[in-house]
Amino acid sequence: MRLADRTKAIKPSPTLAMNAKAKALKDAGEDITNFGVGEPDFDTPNNIKEAAIRAIRDGFTKYTAVDGIDELKAAIADKFRNDNGIDYTRDEIMVSCGAKHSLYNIAEALFGPGDEVIIPAPYWVTYPDQVLLNDAMPVVVETDEKNSFMIDPGLLRKKLTARTKALILNSPSNPTGLAYDRETLMSIAELAEEHDFYIISDEIYEKLVYDGFRHISIASLGEEAKQRTIVVNGLSKSHAMTGWRIGFTAGPRDITKAMTNIQSQSTSNPTSISQKAAVEALRGPQEFIGTMLAEFDRRRTYMVDRLNWIDGVTCKTPVGAFYAFPNVSSYFGRAYKGRVIGNSLELSTYLLEEAKVALVPGSAFGDDKYIRLSYATSMESITRGLDRIEEALGNLK
Ligand SMILES: *Cc1c(COP(=O)(O)O)cnc(C)c1O
Repeated sequence: MRLADRTKAIKPSPTLAMNAKAKALKDAGEDITNFGVGEPDFDTPNNIKEAAIRAIRDGFTKYTAVDGIDELKAAIADKFRNDNGIDYTRDEIMVSCGAKHSLYNIAEALFGPGDEVIIPAPYWVTYPDQVLLNDAMPVVVETDEKNSFMIDPGLLRKKLTARTKALILNSPSNPTGLAYDRETLMSIAELAEEHDFYIISDEIYEKLVYDGFRHISIASLGEEAKQRTIVVNGLSKSHAMTGWRIGFTAGPRDITKAMTNIQSQSTSNPTSISQKAAVEALRGPQEFIGTMLAEFDRRRTYMVDRLNWIDGVTCKTPVGAFYAFPNVSSYFGRAYKGRVIGNSLELSTYLLEEAKVALVPGSAFGDDKYIRLSYATSMESITRGLDRIEEALGNLK
């Protein structure tokens, strides 16, 4: 077989791989606690399902406009106005088959050979690979948990070159659960203006925030910031709609047009039925989000408290998303039955095999000191899983 070179540059999503491994063990009869999941454990609300069923009954089952139906784009424009205080016209908005697809369209429209794309680590696993798939170079910039994993604008400045094309921001963040403050966003926006690069702002966890945290979109900081930002958002996380595949972007007209052309030659429109469901998700009652959030909040508090109780583990309290990202590096160098744990992957493998707990090693997100645990799973699983982790870590000497 002679595959294209780009297939050699990338790896399959490690989070999906971990999920598959846990599932295989579970299917083989093992009692696995799965902290690897990257989606809400809630069902899509009924009003949204009903809208989809209506769409099918009404025969709304044909091709639509490539970039989404007007009704949905209008609902998205209202969302940006109401939630973020940003005015977008319809030709600045585009709907795709999930936020991951939106990000991919952006990568295709903007990146090429010689381009450098700044990615703060820890990062969502997909960003570097999407850059590589489009022949550009990811430039990973370390962040510090003491600074809530926000990129240090001084360090960012040092990484900028004439080839810097864009910076990919993700706030609130998967995997850290931390989020950017206004001051840091302002500094980044100023640097973007000064050095002429784009900001890709993945805000998929905007609705899942705790402790009264207020999400700020960098595009809302002013006309200049808006003109060089492409905001990515979607319904997968906020409305428990991962399988429906609806994501969207808001950004400059020319980039949106280029992305629409690319989408017109790849997937065409997102599913017509899902688009009708998305209109209901955005326009219908929003109580579901509060209910889900209250439950996530309860689990978050429990999980983070327990992690911090474990000797040698430290975990910052996440303000968003549904992940805990504890620092477990004090366990590296310890051993169980002669087997030395040297890094986050070895620790994760140990925890899967010995404690029957699936989670994702920090190395998948570009920082080996950590592991990621999702609390989008039942309180019962969380309690059991943490009992097992505590015991297994205690066995490392
Ligand atoms: C889940 C996730 C996405 C993608 O969501 P879609 O299901 O493709 O809409 C994008 N970014 C981050 C950080 C995510 O965690």
